[in-house]
Amino acid sequence: MPGKVIDVIEDGRKVVLDYFGERRKVRNDFYQLSVGDYAYAQGGFVVQKVPPDEAAEALAVWKDYLDALESIDMRLAEKGGSLRKRANFVRREATGNSACVHGIIEFSNYCRNDCHYCGLRVSNKSVERYRMSEEEIVEAAGYAIENLGFRALVLQSGEDTYYDGEKLSAIVSAIMRKHPVLIVVSIGEMDYEVYEKLYAAGARGALLRFETSNGDLYKKYRPGHTLDERLGLIRRLKNDGWIIMSGFILGLPGATLSDIASDIKLSYSLGVEMLSFGPLVPHPDTPLASATPPSFDETLDTIARARLMYPDMRILVTTAAETIGRAELSDDVEPIKAALGSGANSVMINLTPRKYSRLYSIYPGRDSDTETIADEHIFFENKIRKVVSVLRSLGRAPTDLGTP
Ligand code: SF4
Repeated sequence: MPGKVIDVIEDGRKVVLDYFGERRKVRNDFYQLSVGDYAYAQGGFVVQKVPPDEAAEALAVWKDYLDALESIDMRLAEKGGSLRKRANFVRREATGNSACVHGIIEFSNYCRNDCHYCGLRVSNKSVERYRMSEEEIVEAAGYAIENLGFRALVLQSGEDTYYDGEKLSAIVSAIMRKHPVLIVVSIGEMDYEVYEKLYAAGARGALLRFETSNGDLYKKYRPGHTLDERLGLIRRLKNDGWIIMSGFILGLPGATLSDIASDIKLSYSLGVEMLSFGPLVPHPDTPLASATPPSFDETLDTIARARLMYPDMRILVTTAAETIGRAELSDDVEPIKAALGSGANSVMINLTPRKYSRLYSIYPGRDSDTETIADEHIFFENKIRKVVSVLRSLGRAPTDLGTP
């Protein structure tokens, strides 16, 4: 939904957008904006200036729709009750009914690391490895933007040095030249100059989890790496203007309740724009194959606690949470609904071409493992329809207005 610029601040680096009376401050790196202009924002960031006639048309459609959604959300988010209900109420009070929906494209499953919890670890020889070509990545992004309507895309891979700064920045530039969107990269601990080149090419988001706030567990499960190195990179990126998405793995063997509380606190103190934590889903070809994963209930309670601790955070329904929920509830839709009803307010949809997504086996049971629809376009449309109908049934608007 486009917002109307009602104030320009910090020499144009930020603007205040108005959405039917709701005002949000967003960052503006790329456009000359004046009061009265219209713009689309994603993740607290202007992604596109919109011509006034196009904005008027879009807003006419949104007006009634938004009012209807608002009233559903207000009815469902009641005060009091269980932990999750309270969290949902707090979510509504602090962030309103907007829910950002990002797409993710997993472009390579090569990784040089050996994390104990991940099926893509270098020593797992049973994975069939793939790399999407630069053209394939740009094409998949273009398809997601033009045909499926996404305005925020995560480009994700294992830590794969085949894609150096030149290659990655060429990909981002090619996408940005045609389609102004929020590009988030999720490429691990690459050399800082790779991130610098990506920033120069127009990428603005970095998805980089710290996995656990417990330094000993970190060293144990990520051999050869330290938590300090990871946090150092996240802080440096944040300091240099990147929008940070980060979080942890819920249920690592040895992690205590106090570790989980520290994980949530650390996420907040890092200034993340979006908290992304997923339950451990043990992969059979990893050292954690026989670990006991957290239940879906524990996952929902952790979402609720994070929301109650930090009311205004964006909290993502991760695909790992969906996977655990799908296995427990034998249903595709209920897990997303339950997570959004426990305080979450962001959704990620996997848009990786199917021939590759089934090979991106970080953990088993992802939807690409189980879905049988042959036609790729119908497969994606169904996925999106499912998410949008869940959002609609909960009164959430699939639009990201930014933080009040
Ligand atoms: S978690 Fe990331 S860095 Fe670790 S093995 Fe998996 S893909 Fe590689």
